[in-house]
Amino acid sequence: MGERVDPADYAIIGGSSTFSIHFPEDVGFDGVEVLKAGVRFETPYGTGPEMKLFRLGDKRVWTVKMHGWRPEEGVPRGVASQQLFWVFRQAGVRKIFAEGGVGACNHLLKVRDIVIPHDYIDQSMRKDVGLGGPYLLIMRRPTCPYGRRRLAEAAEEEGLGRVFDRAVYANTDGRHFESVAEVQALRMMGADVIGQSMCPEVYLAREIGACYARLDLVVNYAEGVVRDWEHEELRELFFRESRAVGRILLRALSRTGPEEDCGCRDLRKDTLLRKENVGNREWERG
Ligand SMILES: [Zn+2]
Repeated sequence: MGERVDPADYAIIGGSSTFSIHFPEDVGFDGVEVLKAGVRFETPYGTGPEMKLFRLGDKRVWTVKMHGWRPEEGVPRGVASQQLFWVFRQAGVRKIFAEGGVGACNHLLKVRDIVIPHDYIDQSMRKDVGLGGPYLLIMRRPTCPYGRRRLAEAAEEEGLGRVFDRAVYANTDGRHFESVAEVQALRMMGADVIGQSMCPEVYLAREIGACYARLDLVVNYAEGVVRDWEHEELRELFFRESRAVGRILLRALSRTGPEEDCGCRDLRKDTLLRKENVGNREWERG
């Protein structure tokens, strides 16, 4: 269908922290060369988002801005994610890093802290977002332990703020922020931070057999936590830390190989819900 997707083992999904720069070229990271920019693919879910292919040393990487969301085109976020991950699957992507901005509902966190989620609670309304793969997706360890460690190390080296290598990410639909009562409910459920992009990305990554790890910058407190946040502070963070977050992603990527025994791929199994299994009594043997 349409243009062939250039193969790449890696992908970086940009979010609010790298939105205000040309990523990756503005970061000034050694060994980066943009190979293609402004590429859009025809997918079974409609025309995909604008994407960029770059090289980091001998690694080829697809990247997209702001999770591929395009509210101006009227594309629902779940569909935008299907388009994006369809392209990743065509490219043969094995490792995905993503970034985003989150609100803290754990009062121990501070603005400018970096969290690297190890788990999530999906409070979005769009859970049935897939690519139709015949798989059973096990979300026992949803984010890649190796990818998380590399992001944590790279973030520590950057010295941007405190780095937490674990966090429970509550995913809400947005586009509005949550109310005080909703934030209290999410906190009681065990969430540390609230954001809008981890789901369905984390499921789609598992479906295409890719590792997924993400880094989130705490940009405010969720409503009712510690103190009211101010728009000016949010604005400042939005524009100021872009290069630092970009550098963390590229540094983590530069230390990642395409094949690792992190175990992520073993959490995708063939589905048992196949027509040929109806009436199959093989399991009764032995
Ligand atoms: Zn992995």
